[in-house]
Amino acid sequence: MKTYLRHTDGSVEDNEGRILFFSMDRFVSDICEGDCCFMCGASPSPKEKEFNEEHIIPKWVLRKLDIYKLSITLPNGAKIRYDQYTVPCCKECNSFLGSEVENDIRAAVNGGLDSVNAYILENGPWKIFLWLSLIFFKTHLKDSYLRKHLDKRKGDESISSDYDWGLLHHIHCMIRAIQTGISISNECLGTTFVLPAKTADHLDTYDYRDVYAANTILLRIDDIAFLAVLDDSCAAMNLFSEHFNRLTGPLSPIQLREVLSHLTLLNYKLKYRPSYHTKLDASTGDLFIAAELPESIELEEHTRDELGEILYANISEYVDKMPSPDINFTKENILNGRYHFLFDENEKFMSNSMDLIEMNTN
Ligand SMILES: [Zn+2]
Repeated sequence: MKTYLRHTDGSVEDNEGRILFFSMDRFVSDICEGDCCFMCGASPSPKEKEFNEEHIIPKWVLRKLDIYKLSITLPNGAKIRYDQYTVPCCKECNSFLGSEVENDIRAAVNGGLDSVNAYILENGPWKIFLWLSLIFFKTHLKDSYLRKHLDKRKGDESISSDYDWGLLHHIHCMIRAIQTGISISNECLGTTFVLPAKTADHLDTYDYRDVYAANTILLRIDDIAFLAVLDDSCAAMNLFSEHFNRLTGPLSPIQLREVLSHLTLLNYKLKYRPSYHTKLDASTGDLFIAAELPESIELEEHTRDELGEILYANISEYVDKMPSPDINFTKENILNGRYHFLFDENEKFMSNSMDLIEMNTN
């Protein structure tokens, strides 16, 4: 039988002092609002371990797409270079993530879409799901280090000041399981899609977008798009399957943002939600992460406008830039849910989305 130390705050350590489970309080004080290593919880002051920084978007992605020096625009409007977009991590955990997570994904992605699909066939979707969870987690942990307002007169709170850290606590438990070896029950796997992305000279090779309150994420690298819902136990995948089967070609950047919007609405509107808990298996003495699933997958009532509003928020940056001869392509029509990018009026996939239009100048 293994022995664990349970602290009064509810955190659990093994007999070597490794934290197996962060209580919600400790997670918030040490990781979200503190500056401890986000994986093992080691403190930088007093320094318990060597520290370096973990890139939020993995270094190999930045190198592959040559976007190292490009900047990301933060929610506060400031720009930060990708090579400086990092969160605190100890050296040991940083190299652990490199060898145990990034190496496999890099090898799969470098072989293109077919190679990622072959990887999933052989190994299942878990590592890709946890890798997306990790990127989502780092992105929002970073928000706690960034000012909400660049103008100091408006206050000095962080972007994360109104976050409900409870949303990230489950995701943190999941990504740490890679390191602690705690098993995760299969029902904890969320919706995970790998879709073909359209590539062309006039389209960017990279896109990242997530919706914090819905735990949804889109990451596009060249011809591969990854989408996930991190806390739905595959409910959105079930509800989206009819649409999914009609995606018959590579998706343009705006179409992928529309898929993200559908998944976001579906996860928002789940009538009954799964819940997740770290438990102790009394027979083996092992900790594991379990899901309690609702008896049925049902959606709350929702309107076309609600999808329209989510869609517009996800694509507004494209709307002004995209030339279209279609007079119905307006902000108003998108907002009220009357304009979409995935399927035409006959419900057929639009294969020419974002293709260059031949302008007749005569
Ligand atoms: Zn660490």
